[in-house]
Amino acid sequence: MSKLYFVVGSQDLYGDECLRQVAEDAKSMAEFFNKNLSNITVEVLPTVVNSETCISDMRKVNVDDDCIGVMTWMHTFSPAKMWIKGLQELRKPLLHLHTQANEKLPYDKIDMDFMNLNQAAHGDREYGFILARLKVLHHVVAGFYQHKNVLEKISRFIDVARAINFSRHLKVASFGNNMREVAVTDGDRVESQIRFGWECNYFALGDLVREINNVTPAEIDKKMEEYTSKYTMKTSNIEAVKEQAKYEVGIEKFLSARKLGAFADTFQDLHGLKQLPGIAAQNLMGKGIGFGPEGDYKISALSAVLMNMSQGRKGATGFIEDYTYDLTEGKELELASHMLEVPVNFAASKPEIDVLPLGIGGKEDPARLIFDGVEGDGIQVTLVDMGTHFRIICADIELVKQPLPMPNLPVARIMYRHKPNFEIGTAAWCYAGGAHHSVVSTALTREDIALFAKLTGTELICIGDDTTPEKLEEMAVKYYK
Ligand code: MN
Repeated sequence: MSKLYFVVGSQDLYGDECLRQVAEDAKSMAEFFNKNLSNITVEVLPTVVNSETCISDMRKVNVDDDCIGVMTWMHTFSPAKMWIKGLQELRKPLLHLHTQANEKLPYDKIDMDFMNLNQAAHGDREYGFILARLKVLHHVVAGFYQHKNVLEKISRFIDVARAINFSRHLKVASFGNNMREVAVTDGDRVESQIRFGWECNYFALGDLVREINNVTPAEIDKKMEEYTSKYTMKTSNIEAVKEQAKYEVGIEKFLSARKLGAFADTFQDLHGLKQLPGIAAQNLMGKGIGFGPEGDYKISALSAVLMNMSQGRKGATGFIEDYTYDLTEGKELELASHMLEVPVNFAASKPEIDVLPLGIGGKEDPARLIFDGVEGDGIQVTLVDMGTHFRIICADIELVKQPLPMPNLPVARIMYRHKPNFEIGTAAWCYAGGAHHSVVSTALTREDIALFAKLTGTELICIGDDTTPEKLEEMAVKYYK
């Protein structure tokens, strides 16, 4: 299980009894967190009373592979020069919990000892200063630690910190390069690794094809059993489906042998493959493997990270492409899909497997999963490379049921309504330079993405009901200076 270290600050001026109480309170708070937060173990490290303790605590945070981050809190006043060197070494997400061991002030009993013991109002400000001075990226959560809204905020931090740790270990395979002439899917792989930790490397398609061709008939049959148990077989062209089953097994083996968590392919480079991977990619995304078509390594990595962030939550998360609109005035909707590779995560009901022509790529008809998408409030997130920096764009959307059947559309699809409306929402996305590839999620919210952007030091543009016509115009000027 993931671990969150809890580091409490104090100093030795108040005597041993005070420090014993600080350690005891830290322990009982950790016990409370362990009872009330899921999927995490909170463990207390030695109270910081000098620079050496701080350094050794932060080193422990850094080297423990199970640890996703650290939560800090100043029980008493903890002179912040003690924190400088430790914080300079810290390399994991940091939560500053601005709280107290006591909820209420004991008006009738309060004396100087009580006030010296419980002075987060004082100590957390000293600590906040040094975080600001050092420009340490962090998140502040303020309130009594047992309150529901505080626990929810800590819980969000845990999900985002886990995703950031996942991101820092993520390896992405590119089979083939970026689609010829396409701009927005391209990007600086060196900066991707510096900023997000993604190790994005090229692998020869021929090596993947060899792995695919080594897949045994028994392995294909086992994968076919999985397909037929989960999906409805609409096609009679079973051989074409088996071809995809072979791809999925081969790709999964190739990725796991190299500890790769995401991949990108392109229809412009399919040498040795009879079909563009369809079900193979759709089903792998259902298992949390990141995927980007047309060589889009950024969306492949981002989708893997956001799928990780959404773990344990209700809702669907996955890659999608903006495709076409219904522009009925006042009722505008978007139809989002892809030429094949829509993650099965979005299926509202049991998907159908069919084999149909693909008008691009010049290969055999690929097998794919076809389904209508889920409904509900969601977000659409993308990542673009502005040359000087990365930009994350996050738009609030409402996923809706498709108003009428689309019997001739041979691909899976989702539909959504833009916020605050089509006119402002889509114009803002265009001004922001948002890509046509994105990650849509009904499990994550703008707050999750904002926290990810904050903790990774990435520019963020949000679009939603608070995007007024005035804000839209501001954006159109501000981001073009
Ligand atoms: Mn595409």
